[in-house]
Amino acid sequence: MDLIRIFQRFPSNEACIAHLESVRWGDEPACPHCGSKHIGRKSDGIGRWNCHDCHASFTVLSGTIFSNTRTDLPKWFLAISLVLNAKKSISSPQLGRDLDIPQKTAYRMLMKIRSAMVADLDLFTGIVEADECYVGGKPRKRNRRDDDDNYPQAPRGRATRKLPIVGVVERGGKVAAEPSPRVTTANLSAFLSRHVDRDAALLITDQFPAYRRIGHTMRHATVDHAARYVDGEVHVNTLEGFWALLKRAWWGAHHHYSKRHAHAYVTEACYKYNVRESANPFSAFLRDAVAA
Ligand SMILES: [Zn+2]
Repeated sequence: MDLIRIFQRFPSNEACIAHLESVRWGDEPACPHCGSKHIGRKSDGIGRWNCHDCHASFTVLSGTIFSNTRTDLPKWFLAISLVLNAKKSISSPQLGRDLDIPQKTAYRMLMKIRSAMVADLDLFTGIVEADECYVGGKPRKRNRRDDDDNYPQAPRGRATRKLPIVGVVERGGKVAAEPSPRVTTANLSAFLSRHVDRDAALLITDQFPAYRRIGHTMRHATVDHAARYVDGEVHVNTLEGFWALLKRAWWGAHHHYSKRHAHAYVTEACYKYNVRESANPFSAFLRDAVAA
């Protein structure tokens, strides 16, 4: 949903609360503590309910990324839309300016929004590309936008002190990626086991020895980067495309933050890649954000 429509549809806290209640509960609001539907609305104007069974009081925001917020919900909705629409992610100073809120508030909202971008992925099957990329350090002067490690004349990231991100993509499908402090056979193997159906996938990687060892446990084909040769289906171009997005987001929005938050940034990039063909990512996000 675009900003204008969100602004028009959710002009007030009341409108946002009514929407979140219908997304979270449908027609049957329930106590998040005991599940009882024997509840009554308080007349405090902020959508608070009382549970007649366990006597807890709650709102639709309880237990969600919005709980205890002092920021108006319409700004939250706009922030979510801005994050989802930002191709290269968005920085907290930028979000602060866009919404007229302090940078620190914007930063906390961004982190909350990223925390709700949890992926619920099926195991990948078919042709699956695995690779790593490296972020952090200083961008090279010649080409600040894309710190590309993948060509033979540059030292590969594996020899640098940058932060490795391991990734896997199902060709024509979804991507999964996460920071991995040490790229070892054991770490790569555990990562792939979480995301790939080893019996139903053909793994494509470059010739990094760790992948070659994993290749003994499943169907596997390798690309020779040095030859810059695309052998039909045997390439990792899909994942390279995702790395390009990730690196642009990193340099565009995150380079002044520490690697400590790399996980959140990678999560955001994966989430946005995976909802890229969804008809309404905004609604999908809200559904996940208030899911019990
Ligand atoms: Zn209750």
